[in-house]
Amino acid sequence: MVMFSAPGAGSSYVMEHLINWDSEDLDHDPMYRLLFPTLQMLSRRHQQQLLEARASEDPFALEAAVKDIRSDLNPQPAGQLTLNRPKSVELHGIQHKYAETCLLFPSAGQTCHAYCTYCFRWAQFIGDDDVRLAQKDSVAFLRYLGEHPELSDVLITGGDPFIMRVGLLKSYLGKFVDPSFLPHIRNLRFGTRTLTFWPQRFTSDQDAHELLDFLQQLVEVGGRSVDIMGFVPRQPSRKREVQLGIIPYYMFLARDTGAQDYFSVPLARAHQLYADAIRQSSGLARTARGPSMSCTPGKVEISGIEIVNGQKSFVMRFLQCRDPSWIGRVFFAKYDETAIWFDELEPLDGGSVLPWDSRGFLRPGTPEEVLATLAQ
Ligand SMILES: *Cc1c(COP(=O)(O)O)cnc(C)c1O
Repeated sequence: MVMFSAPGAGSSYVMEHLINWDSEDLDHDPMYRLLFPTLQMLSRRHQQQLLEARASEDPFALEAAVKDIRSDLNPQPAGQLTLNRPKSVELHGIQHKYAETCLLFPSAGQTCHAYCTYCFRWAQFIGDDDVRLAQKDSVAFLRYLGEHPELSDVLITGGDPFIMRVGLLKSYLGKFVDPSFLPHIRNLRFGTRTLTFWPQRFTSDQDAHELLDFLQQLVEVGGRSVDIMGFVPRQPSRKREVQLGIIPYYMFLARDTGAQDYFSVPLARAHQLYADAIRQSSGLARTARGPSMSCTPGKVEISGIEIVNGQKSFVMRFLQCRDPSWIGRVFFAKYDETAIWFDELEPLDGGSVLPWDSRGFLRPGTPEEVLATLAQ
């Protein structure tokens, strides 16, 4: 796809084991669809723009068209570069949106074993330093954690942090083996597909054992919890997942970036899919929250569809929020069969206010203050 600079779709493991090449309809093989871009993932206007530029046989025109299309695709949605990042040049690769969790984008971990067509972090991979999050300076990163006692979690992400050699990982995280080092940081999470896209990383890669030893030390000596935020394609049955210690976490909706139009599912349909899946799962696997929109104010779950004051309504809830006082709060919006994103929602007639304004920013004030505006 034009959005990504990487030529192939993924590692040899992904090619050989995750895609069913014998499938009668490869185009509808889910892994093929998730890993191989097609022109249909662009809007008609962008397809035309790209094809015209290509027909011109002028490489500069093609490059300009690609650049233009990319900038139209909202490379860093939900204020990631403006609202989530500390205003300091040494902290170019961290995001701190929710009080307790800091995201780290280590600069050497900003590539992947495969480039997913729905990736909402595609701007990391187009070679544009203006939109790319990358943290080189590990000292500044650790100093930031020290200055923020409200933090308990670091989520190391990318790209894929397990692309990095252990030596590099240790330059950011090595000190956490000492339990007295920043003891408020209790959970080290890795946002990674390596477990399923390159499992050799933990078995036969040159530093596989050193990696496992390091993770074990973080837990057993450092007293940290080490968690993998992974992706399990071609899911085993949910009961088997639970037996393996894999806990379903979030069901996310396609974000408002990249190929959102191609992958989007209406909120109403997503809620139906979620409810159907939950109904068929063991209670132990009902830990998945969602369907959820990761948007400017926070993570918003579609919790239900109900009649409120005689109107068909979405019942929603903040799972995460920039302002922690909203977390867990329930609110309502008019039911809309075709809406795919939070900014399309409207308050109920004569009886509700949405927690965000028309630009999608969280309204200032506590939930009580915002709800009090209703009385006026
Ligand atoms: C999802 C997310 C987190 C982690 O949220 P949890 O609900 O604790 O998993 C942290 N920061 C950002 C920017 C996120 O989008």
